[in-house]
Amino acid sequence: MITVDKSSTEKRTSDSLLSVVIPIYQEESHIKNSIKVIEKILIDNKIVYEFILVDDGSKDNTWNELKSLSKENEHITIIRLSRNFGKESALCAGLEYAKGDMVLVMDADLQHPPEIIPSMVNAWLNEGYDVVDGVKHSRGKENIIYRGCAKFFYYLIYKSTDVHLGRASDYKLLDRKVVEAWKELPERTIFFRGMSAWVGFERKEIEFDVADRIDGKSKWSITRLIRLAINAITSYTSVPLHFITFLGFIMFIIALILGVQTLFMKLSGKASDGFTTVILLLLIIGSAIMTSLGIIGIYLTKIYKEVKARPRYLVSDCIKGGDDKC
Ligand code: UDP
Ligand code: MG
Repeated sequence: MITVDKSSTEKRTSDSLLSVVIPIYQEESHIKNSIKVIEKILIDNKIVYEFILVDDGSKDNTWNELKSLSKENEHITIIRLSRNFGKESALCAGLEYAKGDMVLVMDADLQHPPEIIPSMVNAWLNEGYDVVDGVKHSRGKENIIYRGCAKFFYYLIYKSTDVHLGRASDYKLLDRKVVEAWKELPERTIFFRGMSAWVGFERKEIEFDVADRIDGKSKWSITRLIRLAINAITSYTSVPLHFITFLGFIMFIIALILGVQTLFMKLSGKASDGFTTVILLLLIIGSAIMTSLGIIGIYLTKIYKEVKARPRYLVSDCIKGGDDKC
């Protein structure tokens, strides 16, 4: 059983350490500037901070930019993953390395406005919240397909789990005990938003407007998004599996009705020339079986991956404030 250490609640002072965890992938053009913008806000508000910057296997100059950032600054720890593991894994790496009494998770592209950090810290420090969720007031510039898919995806999650993630984002402040609880969760494939909603705790929402990306492009292609959506739904709920049982039940009822009708026709000597019916039935049953097998396959792959129990990420380099030890 996982028990949560309550002692951290008493340690909330204005000197408490804030770890800012940022996953970074191919952001060479603006990363230095973005970190400076965030850092200025932290300094102006007298927040004690450290940065945990995770380079998620970028192939551009991001790592060198991060190195030069950390050389000048002892507050910055940089971690390099051995390849691109994806944002969720990079976040995990950052959470493992963070030492703060509270941990802030945000994107590198300033789409999560750093101006609200002081009010998030305040909600933790003075109002006693354990999780401060940044929720999207508006979703910023997105194309229609992206917006439509996001809507549909959140609708599916909402319908199957009753958890509303529609406005949720990965911009969050977590208390130390929440991070510890999260670290105990053993699964390999993760969906950060879902899992941090699952752990519960006292939470407060703070709204923000999604800013435009400062530079560069969004890393989410349509295929990556579809993969994320399938991963998220199957990590978060087993409703699709129950849906198969439900489908089977409906098919059974239809089979009963049709069976009785066919027998009746046969016995009364009026057996129809039911070629179309046979074709239709074959098609419907065939596609239902294929889809069902597919859904089972997705869950099977997930179990397979979990059983292999490979690490979520591999670290190839870690530098803290100029020297080589982390
Ligand atoms: N990111 C990452 N690994 C990836 C893709 C993205 O660490 O494989 C980081 C990226 O550098 C950024 C954050 O995740 O800090 C959000 O990515 P992006 O801005 O591309 O997503 P969007 O804002 O469009 O959802
Ligand atoms: Mg972005």
